Amino acid sequence: MKPSTDLNDALMARARQVIPGGVNSPVRAFRAVGGTPRFVQRAHGAYFWDANDQRYIDYIGSWGPMILGHGHPAVLEAVQKAATEGFSFGAPTEREIELAEEILSLVPSMEMLRLVSSGTEAGMTAIRLARGATGRSKILKFEGCYHGHADALLVKAGSGLATFGNPTSAGVPPEVVQHTLVLEYNNVAQLEEAFALHGADIAGLIIEPIAGNMNFVRATPEFTRRARELCTQHGALLIYDEVMTGCRVALGSAQSVYARLIPGFEPDITVMGKVIGGGMPLAAFGGKRAVMEQLAPLGPVYQAGTLSGNPVATACGLATLREIKQPGFFDELSRKTRRLVDGLGAAAQAAGVPFSADCEGGMFGFFLLPELPQNYGQVMKTDGERFNRLFHGLLQRGVYIAPALYEAGFVSAAHTDADIYATIAAAAEVFKSL
Ligand code: PLP
Repeated sequence: MKPSTDLNDALMARARQVIPGGVNSPVRAFRAVGGTPRFVQRAHGAYFWDANDQRYIDYIGSWGPMILGHGHPAVLEAVQKAATEGFSFGAPTEREIELAEEILSLVPSMEMLRLVSSGTEAGMTAIRLARGATGRSKILKFEGCYHGHADALLVKAGSGLATFGNPTSAGVPPEVVQHTLVLEYNNVAQLEEAFALHGADIAGLIIEPIAGNMNFVRATPEFTRRARELCTQHGALLIYDEVMTGCRVALGSAQSVYARLIPGFEPDITVMGKVIGGGMPLAAFGGKRAVMEQLAPLGPVYQAGTLSGNPVATACGLATLREIKQPGFFDELSRKTRRLVDGLGAAAQAAGVPFSADCEGGMFGFFLLPELPQNYGQVMKTDGERFNRLFHGLLQRGVYIAPALYEAGFVSAAHTDADIYATIAAAAEVFKSL
């Protein structure tokens, strides 16, 4: 066999020697779609370039954070300035207060928040806080939602509502997930049954309000309303995991979208990440003052972090939030995302390919299914082989979407209408060959 001249192949071979699977986060390895991952050399605006200097229109944007596109001048300047002032102090800074104030002003269900370094850390601590604040152990989560890789959340459904979940990862003892109950997303009857059976023991219910880890599945308004009512009725905390949707689907995050449909709607605890860090390791969790004051050093729930509130990351997050707050930012981002989704739909229809899609703000998802799925089981009816052909067809044409059918896509402010049209044109060609 002729040796490959593809520099991505060479890098992957080298990476495999020193990093398990060649990657530092599994989905990057292209295992679901096959082929060689693209090693990114540099990125600018809506594009990145791989090891062969091939350009791609980027629809993953670091899995969500890059809402302004890559290398936005105001963000770059803020990061460069912060870096010259020091990388990390392990002591408080004014910028942490500024970022907290900014996030709280955008998501008013939170009265206080704490900054951490990853969504996993934020979700894990939100669970500990809910348990500490309620003095209860049980957690409800939903099949197809991902909340980071804390042990208690790496769970698949057990055999029934009376039994709790099974670990989805080796290394998680069954006892660690024995208090985590996994339910079907959007299933009101199951939710009611779970509260009827376990209500007095449930510390919290954690949910992705728009589930981006099963591509793009919205919680129905009815399901959302019942979840809120049942949590209130039984004294459990409603935890909104907005790591992906936070400041991405709307300036006020997904909860502001639901508050328009359900007057007065608010979660008790919100978990944020991605956009609020603008591409740097930064995440947060927050809620009402009385709950948040359960955290150390004020209260008995422990949480800490060497790099929490990192000065360079907070500068990056603040500069990003200041840009997305500009009047009309989300209208324009939503318009572009809608144009992409509608254009892909029209191209699929013209080619006779079953297709359904949805979007909110700068986040979108599509399925090679005639109707939008409502839960994980329905998402998994997608023809994986067909998706993989679509993925590689787009990749060859310089369009980079998530290398797995259960992942959402992201449009940034840097994507131009020309980028969107070029993407639709590329997809139209690929659809014809599906
Ligand atoms: N929660 C949701 C909804 C996510 O999408 C993710 C990551 O994609 C996480 C939590 C975990 O965040 P991180 O990867 O920063 O640990």
